[in-house]
This record gives sequence, structure tokens and C-alpha cells, in this order.
Amino acid sequence: MGNRDIELIKKIAALKKKKNAVILVHNYQLGEVQDIADFIGDSLELSQNAAKTNASVIVFCGVHFMAETASILCPDKVVLLPDMNAGCPMANMITAERLREKKKEHPQAVVVCYVNSSAEVKAESDICCTSANAVKVVESLDAREIIFVPDQYLGHYVSTKTSKKMILWPGFCPTHARIKPERIKELKRDYPQARVVVHPECRPEVIALADEVLSTSGMCRYARRDDVREMVVGTEMGIIHRLRRENPGKRFIPISEQAICPNMKLITLEKVLWSLEEMNPEVKVPEEIRLRAKAAVDKMLKIGGK
Ligand code: SF4
Repeated sequence: MGNRDIELIKKIAALKKKKNAVILVHNYQLGEVQDIADFIGDSLELSQNAAKTNASVIVFCGVHFMAETASILCPDKVVLLPDMNAGCPMANMITAERLREKKKEHPQAVVVCYVNSSAEVKAESDICCTSANAVKVVESLDAREIIFVPDQYLGHYVSTKTSKKMILWPGFCPTHARIKPERIKELKRDYPQARVVVHPECRPEVIALADEVLSTSGMCRYARRDDVREMVVGTEMGIIHRLRRENPGKRFIPISEQAICPNMKLITLEKVLWSLEEMNPEVKVPEEIRLRAKAAVDKMLKIGGK
């Protein structure tokens, strides 16, 4: 770490104290940003932590929908997203208006919405899910037909675990879609002892070759197991920093140098400092949307589960 980073970290720590702020950092963030986290985790874990904290300001180091989810759960806190351009291309593949049209085509269907979506889309949905609890959420519903938005690959994965009819929205994560089955085959040849663990946002052909299909929080738990010494990590590369820090002596092999989410990398130490200095950019969900979106999030939280 250079002198510049040390200076920045000191300034961030002082301002954090002064403003009664907490720094929440997603597993895919840059290593130096992960290292200043008060909490690190997946989007839902972070929002749940946000709801519990006594801090009055949340600096959310992630992408826009995550900061929105924190604002949905904690309307009284100031939620800062250090770079407003940090969006999620998958969340942007659907709008509330297009979802309303889809609902008209399938009036009997229940809408399950992956948390990687805007507050407006959540507000149009019956219930949310995460990559960790999607199967449990779908199975819990008293409905035969499910409109699943916006991730077709997570939706497809769920469809292999349920007998319900799944209508899949054609969205996808461009970062996970770059992971190809040929690469998994190559890595299996090169590291025959390694467990191959992939995220359910990956393509079905990739999932078919994996030993485990896990969310990022699931991957972090799995890596702690004594019988796991070597792991091929089939998700965004940022998580490798956390896995190596938490599991010294174990080997973590990134699936591909291309598995990088450029939006996640927009947040830097400088931007964290500026956001605290200026208390900006702030993410705030309008109350009417917030209440409807919160109903969908709350229904999921009641179900809980991995
Ligand atoms: S990794 Fe994929 S799903 Fe996550 S923020 Fe980036 S584009 Fe969106």
C-alpha cells in the first residue's frame, strides 16, 4: 500500500467518525475498498446490516440497485453511492413498464424479482429473491406460474429445481455470461483436485460442469470447509481478494481474467472520501415506490433461507 492510500484511509476514517457513517462493501469491489469495509458481503447481507446499524450515514460501495435496497430498508439514513455511474447492466435490462405489460399477458402468474433490479421493478413484483434463496422463494409460493425477472440464467437454474412453470425474462449478467464451458473444462484438466464452484448467474452449460452452484456468501462459507483446499471460483474476480484473505494457505483460481464487472470497479478510495466530504451522491427511493418495493423485500426476508 502506498503513502497516498494510507493518507486516504486516514482521512476516510476521521470523516466516518465525524459523520457517524458506516462503510458497506460488496464482495466484488476493488481489494483496497474491501479493506476499509465495516461490513463486507453480498447485496442482501449488506442491506440487512444497513438496517441494523446505528450509523446515520451509509456509504454503499457497490452498484446502484444495492444502494437503493439499503434506502428501501433504511429510509431515515443517508445512503451514499460514491459513483452514480455504478449501475448494473442486468438490472437495466427491465423496466417497470415492460414488467407491467408482461403481467397483463400472464394474469395468473406471481412475479419473483431477483434483488438485482431497480426499486421500480421491485415495486411491481410480488416477492424478491437473492441468488442464495431463489429456489426456496419460488417453492414457497402458492402459484403454478411464475414470472421470474430479470436474470434468465438464475431463473433457468431455479426451473431445474421446481415443477412450477417459469416464465423467464431475457436479462443476464454480462460479466457471468463471459464465463464459458470450455474454460471450465480447461481448468478441470489443469487443477484436477480443485472444487469448481460457480454462481447461478452463469450460463446453464457452465452450471452443468460445476461441483457446486453457490451465491457469493455461499462461496465464502464453502471455502472455509476443511475439506476444501483448492477452488476454481466461477464468479466476478473481486471475491478472490476476500477468499484469499480469509483462507490463508488455500488456493483460489479465478475462472477467467475477463470475469470483471467494470461497474463494480468504479468505486475507489478517492470517491469514498469525496462522497463523505460532500455527502453526495445520495440515493433515495421515493416513498410511494419504496413502500411497494419494501413489501416485496419483506416477504422474502420472512421466508429467509439459503
Ligand atoms: S456482476 Fe453482473 S449482476 Fe453484478 S453488478 Fe455487475 S453486471 Fe450486475
